[in-house]
Amino acid sequence: MSFNADLADRFNTMATLLELTGANPFRVNAYARAARAVENNSQELNKLSTSELVEIEGIGKGIAAHIREVAETGELEELTELQRTVPPGLAEVLDIQGLGPKTVRLLWKELGITDRASLSQAIESGEILKLPRMGKKTVENIERALSFASKSKDRLPLGVAAPIADRLVERMRQVKGVTRAEVAGSIRRGRDTIGDIDILVVANDPAKAEAAFCEHDDVLEIVARGKTKCSVRLAVDIDTGRWTSDGDQRHSIGVDLRIIESSSFGSAWLYFTGSKAHNVRLREIAQKKNLTLNEYGLFPDDPKAKGSPQSRGVKPVASRTEKQIYTKLGLVMPPPEIREDAGELDLKNEPRLIEISDIKSELHAHTTASDGVMSLDELVGCAIDRGFHTIAVTDHSRSSAQANGLSVERLRAQRGEIEQAKERFSDRIQILAGSEVDILADGSLDYDDEVLAELDIVVASPHIALSQDTATATKRLIRAIEHPMVHIIGHPTGRLIGRRPGLSPAMDEVIAAAVEHNTALEINSHWMRLDLRDVHVRAAVEAGCLIAIDCDDHAPGDFDNLRYGIQTGRRGWLTRDLCINTWSKTKLTKWLRSKRS
Ligand SMILES: [Zn+2]
Ligand SMILES: [Zn+2]
Repeated sequence: MSFNADLADRFNTMATLLELTGANPFRVNAYARAARAVENNSQELNKLSTSELVEIEGIGKGIAAHIREVAETGELEELTELQRTVPPGLAEVLDIQGLGPKTVRLLWKELGITDRASLSQAIESGEILKLPRMGKKTVENIERALSFASKSKDRLPLGVAAPIADRLVERMRQVKGVTRAEVAGSIRRGRDTIGDIDILVVANDPAKAEAAFCEHDDVLEIVARGKTKCSVRLAVDIDTGRWTSDGDQRHSIGVDLRIIESSSFGSAWLYFTGSKAHNVRLREIAQKKNLTLNEYGLFPDDPKAKGSPQSRGVKPVASRTEKQIYTKLGLVMPPPEIREDAGELDLKNEPRLIEISDIKSELHAHTTASDGVMSLDELVGCAIDRGFHTIAVTDHSRSSAQANGLSVERLRAQRGEIEQAKERFSDRIQILAGSEVDILADGSLDYDDEVLAELDIVVASPHIALSQDTATATKRLIRAIEHPMVHIIGHPTGRLIGRRPGLSPAMDEVIAAAVEHNTALEINSHWMRLDLRDVHVRAAVEAGCLIAIDCDDHAPGDFDNLRYGIQTGRRGWLTRDLCINTWSKTKLTKWLRSKRS
């Protein structure tokens, strides 16, 4: 784990433990905020001094001192102290849906509950009912949430969850009386992993919507069913394909359906899209303007009144669309992907982030020559179907034996075939003869320079030695970036989401080298990769680094992964100009050739 990731972990733990001790919410928030600031920072923070640290947004004096402490001693005294007083199993109890820190603290202090097992016992014995305001109904809900929490697996990759959400939205749109259906939550924001799916509908006949949602073959279990909210768990068959080693797995995912009045659709969509951090900031901003924001709308604030404004019949000043709410708050509406409380509420103009339709070329693709399933002509055909002006053929290099990497002889033979294809397709698409060359453990490349010089495009990627330490990995990637023949660094860290963390180089140094040498860093669009990840894209964009968004196609369907690469780019605030796949054929070709002179 990198220093920053480790630090973010510790601060998140601090926040959770402090919450459980009943600490001041502002203090809790300071740690949660620090965790985000640390995680989203591309510099290695152990190298910074206190005065440099406090320059970073979200890091105050106290947090800076903590960072120095961890850098110098490897320990965080205050955390160690907290861990001595708070039972470690309580964090798991807090993770159970519907259990807030106050209740968990009560369970702990009054009943001695310290983990999920003892909670389960207290429910069984009925002892839990001794707590104030703990009725039968509440206990039933806790029991159900507890059973799901122990059954549910890790978060699912975006590329597994998003198509399920698409299908559900489509199904709801077919229901009579449903006038609108949209996906919210982290899928809408394009996060790389998804906890559960949130869908909002407007329905003239809520009973019909409820039935269509709950009574379906895919539904494993109905968790809750009502006129405004239904929760189900769906069976998910993850199509593991070549990307995983452990075969087909049976997973399930939670889906919440909310039936909303069209008059408050905007406030509900905003609320259920998140992120939580974004919503907290929005509510603070509203409060300063004497307004109250919740899922039903933006209301005039009345601190003396009891109960929610909507329950008192107060009319909202905005609720129908998200835009109206942001406008009333004097804010620019940020695209969902950047709603992370990371500067998006300070925007003066709506940013024009990259879109799918901006992409005009695919620069990383495989054929049957290495480990793809498409022939050269099939691959080219797919690219033509997408309307691209350029397709690069980049099969694996010789060291990738498991991927049937090409020897120099086979590479040259393929080159001959590509030259013929170039002629055959010349009026329809530009074909580039390239390679996805392995970056070997020491940063050298898998072909000699004279071989690389024959290629139109070189994508250099790490595939082996992915658990190198930070310093070695940084040196390795920078050596490849500096290589005069290399155009793009493919999936720079080699991570596979939920399976292996990949390299953790000093990203700021990698990015600086890429800027200096005019080398692009790839966002690999495959949902198992999404590498560069969002926060690294953001750092690269801020540094003015060139970005490639490629699908690393092995099969025709892989072209459809582009949406995830685009969302990752948007999460990193990527605009069109920095992404080489949006460039015209002339501009792209000129840049490619600049590395061949
Ligand atoms: Zn690769
Ligand atoms: Zn590849």
